[in-house]
Amino acid sequence: MSDQLTTCGYVALIGAPNAGKSTLLNALVGAKVAIVSPKVQTTRSRLTGIAVEEAAQIVFIDTPGIFQPKRKLEQAMVEDAWTGADDADFVALLVDSRRPVDANNDDTQRIIDGLKKNKRRAILVINKIDAVKRPALLALADKLNSETLEDGSPLFSDVFMISALTGDGVSDLGKAMAAAMPPGPWLFPEDQIATAPWRYLAAETTREKLFINLHQELPYQLTVETEEWEERKDGSVKIDQVVYVTRDNHKGIVLGKKGALIKKVGEASRRDLEDQMGRRVHLFLFVKVRENWLEDPERFREMGLQFPKG
Ligand code: GDP
Ligand code: MG
Repeated sequence: MSDQLTTCGYVALIGAPNAGKSTLLNALVGAKVAIVSPKVQTTRSRLTGIAVEEAAQIVFIDTPGIFQPKRKLEQAMVEDAWTGADDADFVALLVDSRRPVDANNDDTQRIIDGLKKNKRRAILVINKIDAVKRPALLALADKLNSETLEDGSPLFSDVFMISALTGDGVSDLGKAMAAAMPPGPWLFPEDQIATAPWRYLAAETTREKLFINLHQELPYQLTVETEEWEERKDGSVKIDQVVYVTRDNHKGIVLGKKGALIKKVGEASRRDLEDQMGRRVHLFLFVKVRENWLEDPERFREMGLQFPKG
């Protein structure tokens, strides 16, 4: 790389919850670095993935969805997402083509208004094209393309139509992003795909399995922390994690009958971690009650978030 002119920069992926940001990040980076779930608000803080496209290194900031915040945790997530957008060289707004965008109570519209207010030009990425018909796609693109900044110039410098799920259009998008990166040395080693520490990724993996297995119940009230990480001589790793719930009766739900649910979660998480890390994992899960964590600044810091002021 040294004899070539390298480029390197940050791309913020923003969009409503469930637009497919984490799926796209994983597709662009080519490895699983962000957790993906059909439920909203899965990503709680910025996660970074890194893709290399010829001489360009693209550092992605995967933001939590930007939405109307109600509780403190939500407020912190939204603020973090805007900070992510501010730090970036390039902002990509991801839109779910299956959902109409209109002024009333719509997350995408709120983000568009936020971009305009911050005078941030973005590229528009219309996602999930595998799931909608062509005329509907073109109508959505037309509508969004008419958005302008204060000076009348277009808000979106470019439009891409992709399916993050099938990979359709993803490599063209990656190439366009690479072409937009400013000249400069690479910030990370070539083979590094994620800057988030493994302890955090491991906790996120377990949280993903809890989301999948708990269905409608209490997912937003729980958090997972990796407490111990022990490298073993045989190349395996022993990981202890604590699942924190806010109420005593939630503990029973997370454990399940005779501990069946937590066992299932632990096995699924361990298998996934072994796949991600390519090594043997011994995973031990504990469930504890921590009543006020949703009001505790220290817990926010552990998730990489700022506790909202006021
Ligand atoms: P995020 O909240 O924006 O990070 O969204 P996720 O990446 O977690 O995706 C939310 C849901 O949309 C998941 O169930 C994904 O499998 C699904 N999804 C993401 N991209 C696509 C796509 O291109 N097509 C379809 N049909 N589903 C997608
Ligand atoms: Mg996500």
